[in-house]
Amino acid sequence: MGEGAGAGERERERLYGCVEAGGTKMVLGIASGAGAVLDSLTIPTTLPDETIGAAVAWLDRAARPYGALSAIGIASFGPAGIDRGGADWGRITATPKPGWRDCDMAGPFARALNLPIGFDTDVNAAALAEHRWGAAQGERVAAYVTLGTGIGGGVVIDGRPLHGRTHPEMGHVRVRRDPADGDFGGICPFHGDCLEGLASGPAILARWGVSLSDLPADHPGPAIIAGYVAQLCIALEAMMAPGRIVIGGGVAKTPGLLARIRAAAEGLAGGYFPGFDGARIVAPGLGERSGLLGALVLAEGVVGMR
Ligand code: ZN
Repeated sequence: MGEGAGAGERERERLYGCVEAGGTKMVLGIASGAGAVLDSLTIPTTLPDETIGAAVAWLDRAARPYGALSAIGIASFGPAGIDRGGADWGRITATPKPGWRDCDMAGPFARALNLPIGFDTDVNAAALAEHRWGAAQGERVAAYVTLGTGIGGGVVIDGRPLHGRTHPEMGHVRVRRDPADGDFGGICPFHGDCLEGLASGPAILARWGVSLSDLPADHPGPAIIAGYVAQLCIALEAMMAPGRIVIGGGVAKTPGLLARIRAAAEGLAGGYFPGFDGARIVAPGLGERSGLLGALVLAEGVVGMR
């Protein structure tokens, strides 16, 4: 074999520090370029100094038995600065999360560990990982949507994350109200009844008092929520015809919800989009690991950079 095979082998043997930084917890990992997670730890997301400090210390310590890290990848909650040339690169920006607004997420890792940092949103990273190893392999365009404390989505096009002026904010699309949803005003502080305002975990809790999976069997809640998420799926289909729309996050684990989203999307599609059916809407192939392995893909992309 030629030099290419040797280089590929070296890439698979590289070690990366991976950080999936969520609003309630951070998942840390030491991973190889082949996608094997060698060690992992989950810590609560409290305040920046405490949480980032603990993450830096753990990565430094946990890597030692395996060797030197080549880079760190951070798959972060947002909104966040993802333009490497921008003044806010690597920072959380307009989050309402107490203590985290304008917080420098990437800087402390770079300074303490003296390594290049790959940084993107958790959902762009998850889309990258699902494209590489998971449910969206081989697709030219794929989207990853998380339904949880917030709703967000990332897109991979030809193997690269979609960046416009900044990252997509598809949780904040407007949706047509379900008449069965009453007069609930939605909880988004910016838009009220945008998709996140209507269908995120806190929105479900705010109007029904329990999570979707704890509602009685005959409650209209799951159908209402599935209908809203299906509207996003159809918007994605209409705009970019993704090969797969991967739906992750805590709310998406509600039994039967994915099937409802598929059926609702097929209904909304009206038979119009060539090649589209509900089977394009799928659960993550990597389970809980999409975000962490996405951080690995981000780290790979910056090896040798400063
Ligand atoms: Zn909104």
